[in-house]
Amino acid sequence: MEDSRGAVSLTDRVTTLQAARDVLSGLAEVLWQAQGAELAGVLTLLDEVAGLAGAGRVAVTREAFTRGEVAASQAGSLTGWVAEHAPGLAVAGGGGQVAAVVEAGLRRATRPVTDAACSGRVPVPVAVAVIREAERLKPQLQPEAVPTVVEAMLTMGAGHGVRAVRELRARLIADYGWPGQLQADQDAAAALVSLSAPVGDELGAFSYRLVLDAEGKAVLEAAIGPLSKPAPDADGAPDRRPARQRRGQALIEVCRRATAAGARPPVGVKTTLVVTMGLAELTERLSAGVAVGSSESGTVIAPETVRRLACDAQVIPVVLGGPSEVLDWGRTARLFTPGQVKALWLRDQSCTFPGCGIPAHWCDAHHVTHWVDGGRSDLSNAALLCGRHHTVVHRDRLTAAVTAAGVAWDTAHGSYDRALNATAQPRGRPPDLGLARGPTEPAA
Ligand SMILES: [Zn+2]
Ligand SMILES: [Zn+2]
Repeated sequence: MEDSRGAVSLTDRVTTLQAARDVLSGLAEVLWQAQGAELAGVLTLLDEVAGLAGAGRVAVTREAFTRGEVAASQAGSLTGWVAEHAPGLAVAGGGGQVAAVVEAGLRRATRPVTDAACSGRVPVPVAVAVIREAERLKPQLQPEAVPTVVEAMLTMGAGHGVRAVRELRARLIADYGWPGQLQADQDAAAALVSLSAPVGDELGAFSYRLVLDAEGKAVLEAAIGPLSKPAPDADGAPDRRPARQRRGQALIEVCRRATAAGARPPVGVKTTLVVTMGLAELTERLSAGVAVGSSESGTVIAPETVRRLACDAQVIPVVLGGPSEVLDWGRTARLFTPGQVKALWLRDQSCTFPGCGIPAHWCDAHHVTHWVDGGRSDLSNAALLCGRHHTVVHRDRLTAAVTAAGVAWDTAHGSYDRALNATAQPRGRPPDLGLARGPTEPAA
């Protein structure tokens, strides 16, 4: 029976549900009757029924909760009420989750999540993940962006599940967070980077515990990626090493090659990591870069970090002018040539940061005026920096004076931006970009 708006009445639905319950019990005993191909269709149908039944549990609970039925009952809590009336859910440990999703409907930011769970758009575990992420991210987001962020997480969760929701975090902070939030988060994570001392066991094997930040993870994965692919034998026999063994052996190989490279100037460019980022985002230090082309594709990297990576021959930043439009600035224009690096090694001898003596072969060639700000790949714009001080120089935005006598750093925070603002025209920016803009804004 249908009501005046054409909807099936609750009474009729309950009757049909009771019939469905009756035919579902004992289903296993008649499955032998199915043609082989029919089994897949039956499974899909059951999946749809189970998904909608799960959504129905949330909807009924919400109705009882908002009407005061739960408060009027003898159940001490919403979770208790769910456990009493949905014992199967309680046994599976999902009662608390349904209660959490219903209670989130009381809060404005997370009400769309409860709506999505009630309609069956997302399953309850995904709704719980979206609620947790939304509450965790909220203080880091600009308030007007919260509905957009919640909607993005629902869309991702509906298509790809709980893990995809969590993996959106950095991207969402980059796009909708307070200015500098992603950089602050990633700088904080950088302080957690660690590698334990080896712990030996009785078999002669050693364990390490390694903690990396997003940049470190992207660099490591890019470095070991090609070396950790399965490598068939000469006679074509497949590589039977498990993935974790291939990864461990690739890491040893990377270290071995780094050691073997010794104190010789590098020849040519080794590509290990590709980072994409919009040109406007890069020059204005907004948003974030995204690593591509390694197993860590999609790792979001904060903007100041991308600018530092752009100095380094090991990394190719692909700068995007607009959706899918790659502005090819050319690697030769961006990077110091091996000949220049050799001259730089002779001139600087070691890391140029005050008080540091890390030898030249462990250093990056830094562009004193950043490449993205129009800095040229000239020796007069170059300074050797060890990895640690390269990070410091970009993080604290420091500039230096380069003379034939060497490099003198101005270690006052923000000296880079003051020097850049004092320059009338950024030098060396390709004229055909059609993206005229003034010097970079001072650091916040
Ligand atoms: Zn640099
Ligand atoms: Zn140094």
